[in-house]
Amino acid sequence: MTLAVFACHPDQSRGRRFAQVPAPTRTEFQRDRDRIVHCTAFRRLVYKTQVFLNHEGDLFRTRLTHSLEVAQLGRSMARSLALNEDLVEAIALAHDLGHTPFGHAGQDALNACMQPFGGFEHNLQSLRVVDHLEARYPEFDGLNLCFETREGILKHCSRANAALLEQAEPGGVGQRFLARTQPSLEAQLCNLADEIAYNAHDVDDGVRSGLITLEQLREVALFEEFRQQTQDEFPHLLDPAQGRRLLYETIRRMLSAQVYDVIAATRLALKQSAPASVDAVRLLPPLVCFGEEMRAKSQALKSFLLSQLYRHPQVMLTTGQAQQVVRDLFHAYQTQPQELAPGFQTRAALGAASEGAAGQARVVADYIAGMTDRFAGREHERLTGQRLLA
Ligand code: MG
Repeated sequence: MTLAVFACHPDQSRGRRFAQVPAPTRTEFQRDRDRIVHCTAFRRLVYKTQVFLNHEGDLFRTRLTHSLEVAQLGRSMARSLALNEDLVEAIALAHDLGHTPFGHAGQDALNACMQPFGGFEHNLQSLRVVDHLEARYPEFDGLNLCFETREGILKHCSRANAALLEQAEPGGVGQRFLARTQPSLEAQLCNLADEIAYNAHDVDDGVRSGLITLEQLREVALFEEFRQQTQDEFPHLLDPAQGRRLLYETIRRMLSAQVYDVIAATRLALKQSAPASVDAVRLLPPLVCFGEEMRAKSQALKSFLLSQLYRHPQVMLTTGQAQQVVRDLFHAYQTQPQELAPGFQTRAALGAASEGAAGQARVVADYIAGMTDRFAGREHERLTGQRLLA
């Protein structure tokens, strides 16, 4: 398949931090995708919460299945737009590697604990995982991924952290947050695929959990349009014996409509600005987009999920407990670093020697962020004698 001129071409990659001989049969971005799939942090995603805690049910999305859905949606759109599917897949599979246990609750709690020490950002942590924390190659720390993959993984970054990245790697992945330029189209596409994926699967998981109902969802225009259409075509789906087919078909149509909308709107934006290369893309405003109408509908669905699901009292209750676990763990390791796993003890001592409490705290944050839900629950029980979420 021929790539568009504005796609990321693997033979024109800005390269890896440590030069390596090209692989005989794979492009650089295929190689990145393969490194990500084989890394330890990727396997941990299966035991990390997306919205519903891992032990609440076997059929809810986890960070792993979420990442696979993002990759599927991203690749499908990339192929239609003649963008680089392998790069999209690599970014999608890696985009959540830095997420803490217990979903956003865990990330918020860890960020609060880390406030005196530079904070905690999950996108930056995903980059830390692939740049520093994975320890599997003889010649370097991390996975030594291509610039374009790392650029896509670092979806957001505060200016303060971008300045630190820029110091360590001038002209690297931090620069665009200082220069306010855009990443490649493949990276932009992954952002949108992420949003489309979680909006859709959180409707499914929300209904499965019983916390939101089909009746409530009728107030969401994007959902109601396709629910009505499906019901008109297949009235028998109202029969409870049909199970969740009405829900699934509605979500399927909703997903397809959003994907086709992004492809059409992005094609139009590309036609209008006609970038001649990925470097031209980086200097333009974001080009991967919804059409105006779909943007509003998708936003309305997002707002519904925020108020009705993510802030549901039952979700908030487990969220509160998850935050307690993270806070207690942070405090325990910060005051008793000998309780960290051996490799992290060594790093914590080195961090404390060079940067004091902040140096140690960063290692503690790395350790906690890398935990699966159940490991965090068990560690919490071991260190506090209290059983929360274990
Ligand atoms: Mg995500």
